[in-house]
Amino acid sequence: MSDKNGVSYNPVIVEEDCEVYCRTCNKTVQLKKGDAIPLCCGQVMEIMD
Ligand SMILES: [Zn+2]
Repeated sequence: MSDKNGVSYNPVIVEEDCEVYCRTCNKTVQLKKGDAIPLCCGQVMEIMD
């Protein structure tokens, strides 16, 4: 599946409170249950274990 922009973003909804980070700039963001994982530096942030 592709779209005109060449980028498809399907938001991932977290199922519990967690923290995500950006590999590129090392920024971290606290998320709460039901939040969508945000984009940072053009990519989806990663969940920290
Ligand atoms: Zn970033």
